[in-house]
Amino acid sequence: MEDVFGPAGVIARSHKNYEYREGQVKMANAIADAFAQKRHLIVEAGTGTGKTLAYLIPAIATALSEKKRIIISTGTKNLQEQLMEKDIPFLQKVLPKKFSAAYMKGRGNYACLYRVQKAEHQPILDGVGQLDQFDAVRRWTYETQTGDRRELVDLPEDLSFWNRINARGDVCIGQKCPEYEPCFITRMRARADAADILIVNHHLFFADLNVRGNQFGKVLPDYAAVIFDEAHLIEDIASDYFGFQVSSFQLDELVRDTDTLPITDAIVTRDLTKAAAKIIALADHFWIKFAMARFDGRFPLTQDLFSYRDREGSDQPTPLGEAYLALDGALGSLVATLDPLAETAPEIDSLVRRARQARFDLDFVTSQSERNYVYWIEKRGKGMFLRASPVDVSELLREKLFDKVDTCILTSATLSSAGSFNFVRERLGLDTAKTSGFTAPSSFDFEEQSILYLPKAMPDPRSPEFTQLAAGEIVKILAVTQGHAFVLCTSNQSMNALHELVSSRVNYPCFVQGSMSKAGLLERFRETPNAVLFATSSFWQGVDVQGDQLSCVIIDKLPFAVPTDPIVAARSRFIDENGGKSFFEYSIPQAVITLKQGIGRLIRSRTDRGIIAILDPRIKTKGYGRDFLRSLPRMRITDRIEDLEDVFVSAAGTS
Ligand code: SF4
Repeated sequence: MEDVFGPAGVIARSHKNYEYREGQVKMANAIADAFAQKRHLIVEAGTGTGKTLAYLIPAIATALSEKKRIIISTGTKNLQEQLMEKDIPFLQKVLPKKFSAAYMKGRGNYACLYRVQKAEHQPILDGVGQLDQFDAVRRWTYETQTGDRRELVDLPEDLSFWNRINARGDVCIGQKCPEYEPCFITRMRARADAADILIVNHHLFFADLNVRGNQFGKVLPDYAAVIFDEAHLIEDIASDYFGFQVSSFQLDELVRDTDTLPITDAIVTRDLTKAAAKIIALADHFWIKFAMARFDGRFPLTQDLFSYRDREGSDQPTPLGEAYLALDGALGSLVATLDPLAETAPEIDSLVRRARQARFDLDFVTSQSERNYVYWIEKRGKGMFLRASPVDVSELLREKLFDKVDTCILTSATLSSAGSFNFVRERLGLDTAKTSGFTAPSSFDFEEQSILYLPKAMPDPRSPEFTQLAAGEIVKILAVTQGHAFVLCTSNQSMNALHELVSSRVNYPCFVQGSMSKAGLLERFRETPNAVLFATSSFWQGVDVQGDQLSCVIIDKLPFAVPTDPIVAARSRFIDENGGKSFFEYSIPQAVITLKQGIGRLIRSRTDRGIIAILDPRIKTKGYGRDFLRSLPRMRITDRIEDLEDVFVSAAGTS
């Protein structure tokens, strides 16, 4: 590692801004040891460690020396793209030994050549305004090497027809496809098969892990080891992929694709149209009965929603249960109508598969017979999603991943709570004997670069006057920082209330999440002098604003997960029923990790300076507050607003 990272090493010789970082070298050595000893390793590496090179170098060395493929899995597509576009090309240029790397994203990111061609003759556009956009996509499919929609930078992110021309697995007709050879998925797989290092994201990784070994085969080529970056996201993503889901969109698409089958026989077409129309009517009737899902959000499903026990002791369907049975019958009729037509059109196999899968998933969710699952419904915009998720993924991960793969490295800026990795070990099922934990020291000097402000006399966040007083504190802090701040809130309600109260009292441009896309808001924030951004969950992580533009992060409340959320409630109940104490074993460590993510937005380089303000007094008044404070980087703490200037004064003094 010294040859690579050392002061006279390969990287120092090729990168003029390279700085030797002790934490980076220690992390790289720990990872190299884990590969050599075939052990798992958890590495917490805060901002400023240089963790991507610290894992890429030992991964490449091990892949080449053992002639085995290593997977790097990221939590977000942004990081996946950064690795492929920046870090990997850099290492391919400077490392003496050649290695190959490829990336794979979920199939929905790629254009399907077959569907694009079909779309030229089918109405898939929402209006004539999209004609030019479709034409641009069509022409691009002739030129692109990858078919990855990320290349379509001039088109809007929410291209409504993309879902009807992408290469999703459930609509692919596989080897019957006339475009199978030039297909972007076929080519992506060929590149992945030849790669020493394969970069994927957690969604794709767990989609593969879920089907690996069953009749659907596998999505990824075989691999010897895996490195998870942004590993704090694993539990939720794995839980999604080990679960079951049926959505209103899914049923709508099934009907639409049935309606557009290229079938010329008038009688068959009439039967199919009838079957499809029946599904539409019954699906509408079914979804409308979920009275609790009138507003956006996630709601638990209880068994008595679908059936009840009558006086004779037999199960009877409720009105919702009857609506489900009618919908299930209509899906069954569609399968029966389509099945004998399999030779008529190549799409029919996949339609039958989709209708059968929808029936299976609906049955799984409505019967609620698996005790280890939590059943819930989510309403998001126009969509309804019925879902079943495993309450605890640790057993599944142990069995499918950690017992099967020799080395799994889990890294992130936030994996420990109060100095311990027990939380992540237990949540993910990592065997203590085979897994070491390691914290790579950051190269940032948080004591010098930042100050933590915990204002005096704030009331309990549940009290009615909290929001008013929090707004007052924010106004005072902004007067010191002249804007340049993120106000990170734990709920939309709190975000909107604080935005309204503060924006009317300050002269800085105030932005609020939801007013435009996340990327658009970040760009506006970066470009606008003295800006203040009010945001919730999606801005607590994965956001990078370097320099003076972000000099202050204000956190309204300790970020405990919403206890009524069906998954959070089910996980807590599971821990309590198994003799644990969910508040201490789940709620606190989970909130500590989220808080560390939020705080991590502030200091992004050695020259950044700034203020962290936590307005929730429980961090000082409650016993568990110590766990939060112990988990943060060592910083100077103050409750005096006058002290906040100091962090900038010392910056001026040192510059
Ligand atoms: S093989 Fe599947 S994804 Fe590829 S072009 Fe054909 S239908 Fe589309």
